[in-house]
Formats: sequence, C-alpha cells, structure tokens
Amino acid sequence: MDNERESANLEDRRGGGFGGGGRGGFPIGRAGGIGGFGLVAVVVISLLFGVDPSVILGGLEGGGAPSPGYQQQQPQQQARGPAAPQSDEAARFVSRVLASTEDVWTAEFARSGRRYQAPRLVLFSGAVQSGCGAAQSAMGPFYCPADQRVYLDLSFFREMQQRLGAPGDFAQAYVIAHEVGHHVQNLLGILARSQQAQQQSSQRDANAVSVRTELMADCLAGFWARRAQEMRNILEQGDIEEGMGAAAAVGDDRLQSRGGRGQVVPESFTHGSSAQRVQSFKTGMAAQDAGACINRR
Ligand SMILES: [Zn+2]
Repeated sequence: MDNERESANLEDRRGGGFGGGGRGGFPIGRAGGIGGFGLVAVVVISLLFGVDPSVILGGLEGGGAPSPGYQQQQPQQQARGPAAPQSDEAARFVSRVLASTEDVWTAEFARSGRRYQAPRLVLFSGAVQSGCGAAQSAMGPFYCPADQRVYLDLSFFREMQQRLGAPGDFAQAYVIAHEVGHHVQNLLGILARSQQAQQQSSQRDANAVSVRTELMADCLAGFWARRAQEMRNILEQGDIEEGMGAAAAVGDDRLQSRGGRGQVVPESFTHGSSAQRVQSFKTGMAAQDAGACINRR
C-alpha cells in the first residue's frame, strides 16, 4: 500500500510523553476518581486480545478521567515523536490502512444515505490516557467509544509476529480494520445495545454477547478487505492468508491454551474461537454489503 494516501486522523502520542509535541497533551495521573461513565465505558472497550479487564481497571484506579474538553485540543496534524525510521514506516502503514477504512466506510455509509464520521487513531507507547481511562500496552489495541478513538501501540505488531505467530502487513491491517469495525458498531448504536445486554445478563450470557460483538467486528474487517481490494486493489499475494492467520492467532481458544491454563473453556470466551474468527472474517470478505455482517446472529 506504499502509494496510498495517509489519514489525517492519526494522532502520534509516542515517545516524549503525552501530546507528542503538540499542545494537545493532557496530564498524567490526575487526581480524582472516575465517574460511573468511565467505568461503564471500560466495559464497552472491546479488546482484540483476550485480556483480563482488571488490567484496564487497575490502570484506571491509578489514572482518572481525562480532563474535560481535551478532544477539542488535539492537533489536527500528526506530531511525530522521536521514533526510529522503521517505526515511522510502520506508522505510515497504519495511517494508510486507516485512510483506506475511511474510504470504504464513507462509501458504505453513503449507500444508505448516512455520513461516516471517521474515528481517530492514537499511536502510543507503554501507556496512554484515553476517554475510557488509562490503558497499558499489555491490554492490546482497543477502541474507546467515549472518545471515538482507536488506541494502538506498535509493539503489539511485534508481539503478533514473534509470540502469536501472525506476521505480515496484512495481519496488522486486520487489527486496525477490526478496531475500526467497533467504531462502525458504535456509530450504528450496536455497541451501546450490546453493552446494555451484557449488563442485564449473567456472566455466561454477557460473554456470549461479547463474542457476537467481536465476531461482527471481524466480519466488518473482512468486508473492509473486500471493498478496499475492489476500490484500490491493495491486496498482494498471501495477504488474505495473513489476515486469517491473525484472526486465528487471537482466537480465545488459541490464547487460552497458550496462557498456561492448560485447558480451553468456551463459556469464558469473550472474542470467539480461532475457527469462528476466521469464519467471520471470511463472511465479511464474501459479503455484498456490510448488512451481511450486521444482521448475523
Ligand atoms: Zn474487538
């Protein structure tokens, strides 16, 4: 995708602390507890990676809600921190994939007479303050519905390659497209509904709702891949396999068996098995329109 345009919606908060050199930084570790809204938002955060929510909540306890109005303070242009050239190439790749999701979803929303409001994507390293509270790299990439931002530490891609055995640029594109899929769900009111359903049900049923929501995001990622290919011919040999490999690598069963528990417990799945995730991605790839993902049960 070397020749594709870059997105104007990338925020670089790597290196030199929050704000990435822009004036838009906000303080770390503000005193004061998080309100109910913050807690609720954490529940909605949909992780690609099956991580114990206490990791996030632990971060929240030490952090606190971001200052009001910070969304208006973000610089419009990317402010590059002191990053290695290789890392900046990775950032440009992320920016191009993000731009591609903007093109695809703008067109798809327009087909049903709607206007797509693109999310912003925040690159961070180590830890970050989001509209959903403080977060750490260990929890993996995530989407925060409260501030409509995708948060990504590029080190996750190294982890996918080295620890999860999912290398390749398209594996990375899948991760971004999945998180943007959550943004699409947010715009359509689906995240809010699934959050409500989760709160009103047992843990087991809440997990089932989570799995459905995550598999839908995988399907939306597959749909993006199809449309991006139709629009811009972005795919190279082996890309689809990379994307499906990534979907399989972050399946709950695969992660659980790697996690040292020694057993796979389907009821505790929050994202779906490897086979389910690959199948959802394929369903999206085959879909004529995004409704095929959204109407799935
Ligand atoms: Zn997700």
